[in-house]
Amino acid sequence: MNLYLIMNKAAPTTTVAQSADSLRSSDEWTIQDAAELYRVDQWGAGYIGVNDSGHLQLQPGGESGPKVDLHEIVTGLYERGINTPVLLRFSDIIEHRLNAINNAFKSAIKDNEYKGAYQAVYPIKVNQQHQIVNEIAHYGRGLGFGMEVGSKPELLAVMAMTATNPNQLIVCNGFKDAQYIEAVILAHKLGRRIVPVIENLRELDRIIDTAKRYGVRPTIGARVKLATTGSGRWGSSTGTKSKFGMTITELLRAVETLREHGMVDCLDLIHCHSGSQHQDIGTIKSAVTELTHTFVQLRNLGAKLTYLDIGGGLGVDYMGGRADAASSMNYTLDEYASDVVYRVGSVCDAAEIEHPTIVTECGRAMAAYSSLLVFDVLGSSGPSDIINPRIETGTIEPDAPQPVRDLDATLHIVQGNAPHLVASYHDAMRARDEATTLFSLGYLTLEELAFAERLFWTICEHIQKACKELEVIPDELSDIEELMSEVYFCNFSIFQSLPDAWAIDQFFPIMPIGRLNERPDRRAILADITCDSDGQINDYINPDGGLAPTLPVHKLNSDDIYYMGAFLVGAYQETLGDLHNLFGDAHTVHIKLDESGWAIDELIRGDTVRQVLSYVQYDASDLARALERECEQGVRAKSLTVSEARTMRRFYESGLEGYTYLDPDIELT
Ligand code: PLP
Repeated sequence: MNLYLIMNKAAPTTTVAQSADSLRSSDEWTIQDAAELYRVDQWGAGYIGVNDSGHLQLQPGGESGPKVDLHEIVTGLYERGINTPVLLRFSDIIEHRLNAINNAFKSAIKDNEYKGAYQAVYPIKVNQQHQIVNEIAHYGRGLGFGMEVGSKPELLAVMAMTATNPNQLIVCNGFKDAQYIEAVILAHKLGRRIVPVIENLRELDRIIDTAKRYGVRPTIGARVKLATTGSGRWGSSTGTKSKFGMTITELLRAVETLREHGMVDCLDLIHCHSGSQHQDIGTIKSAVTELTHTFVQLRNLGAKLTYLDIGGGLGVDYMGGRADAASSMNYTLDEYASDVVYRVGSVCDAAEIEHPTIVTECGRAMAAYSSLLVFDVLGSSGPSDIINPRIETGTIEPDAPQPVRDLDATLHIVQGNAPHLVASYHDAMRARDEATTLFSLGYLTLEELAFAERLFWTICEHIQKACKELEVIPDELSDIEELMSEVYFCNFSIFQSLPDAWAIDQFFPIMPIGRLNERPDRRAILADITCDSDGQINDYINPDGGLAPTLPVHKLNSDDIYYMGAFLVGAYQETLGDLHNLFGDAHTVHIKLDESGWAIDELIRGDTVRQVLSYVQYDASDLARALERECEQGVRAKSLTVSEARTMRRFYESGLEGYTYLDPDIELT
């Protein structure tokens, strides 16, 4: 493995490298230092903090709610045989998020003397897991929240889940075939508050035909293609070239068609979605203003329009920097609600039009905080492996190659009283490059190159240590921590558990969940256990608010499992995850809190090997039989003893029923 190359592979989104300054060893380390280093208070949004034991602590019900030690939960689960990686979900966080969103709009309505109401719908594409949707349906019911679906399967799931509450609003987006439309019309007939949102004129024709066939006057919505272009990663969801919605010309044709059928009053909802994770409040304001103007004009054309649905877009500040950056946002929830309500109200007032019910579809902001992934670190690799055992200076032969002699001399200097750090660093770099060149030309043996390498990393280690004592680190040495970083191998799959980190460079805050009362004395890159070089995290939290290419971590010790948490993973990650290398779903545990502590509300075991093999059309029993036959032949041919054959069969059988991730506790025989 070429460590040098790995350590220099910085992600394109990485903007600022944290200076080695913050890891200076002279001051005493406190848990406040840990909280600042990992910016917990900024991205944790009041749900996450550091406690006196040096563990991360959760407060799922918000600032006044009960607290729970995350490390204790993870070790408690381990004692119950539930190993990491494990996805933890906190339904109290979901409840708190829904209330926060509702309260923000209630205050904005009051402050702006808005006459209409507010209602959120949860777009289940954000996280369709049954328990999540159930909880959102449950907590949202009391707040008058509904659901949004974007496909036939989502519609069928939501129709059944809201069966006992027919008044709960269901907004139906996405492309619709005849069956989808028929289901919606029949649901309307059943007394449901369900709104098919038309994406194109063909859908409208189908709705009109089906409604007439069943003698129903449906409630219809229309999705508008806004001219305003969005901000951030999903900016192209809007604008004239966006995939979704109707142009103004199509919208006017839709109104005409409805009028021809005497159904113009059925147009009850107007919708836009200006993209997920808006980083800039400016684009939200423009989109809402444009949509409200369209609403006003359609009202004047005779449409009933009780609902103005502004779609999703409310961001999550994953970086905690309140910045106009893809994984952050330059506004708060209160500001968002206030701007939306003010814009809708003022445009309607100017046109003397009654205020509509404002609908939002902000699922990310509802779900992201509620889930976190905990995984264990399996081991590490890095300069410390190369350096040990230590090299003494002055032990080289006088006829050693020149770069080796130069490195030896430089090591001597950095070990002395006047280490000339910058000059020594440059000398070491040059001598190491020269050693590599000489090796490529055939003038250095493997042993000589390895020796040069060890000298180089030993010099760097001395320079790194010396830097920790400096008040100001010279610019030339600002990357020394990064250079000396290790690779920490972590028991999870990015492709399964953090797919957006791999696919779209989405940033998620990741940090150790324990030992926060100890100074992290090294930096690491986290790599997963897939056999894919993309399976590593490239961006880490930086105390200055930006991102860094490495994460401050503690030295691994063999007595304790070193756990890491990846936070804010409740939106989009679970169903987007894939089976790369056949690593399946992680265990999922729903945790509930009360005065007496935490308890498992529900455990959903992760995929077994048998299950993931069946997803790719293997019959595990056939496989086991094939192996059994081979073992038997091996016994007959005397290449295996009977007991070895039994061990092999046992391994295979227990492996099929086991977790797809590494299990440090498994004993074979
Ligand atoms: N509504 C629609 C139509 C969407 O396409 C999406 C997601 O892209 C959402 C709502 C959810 O938006 P957000 O991720 O901002 O919660």
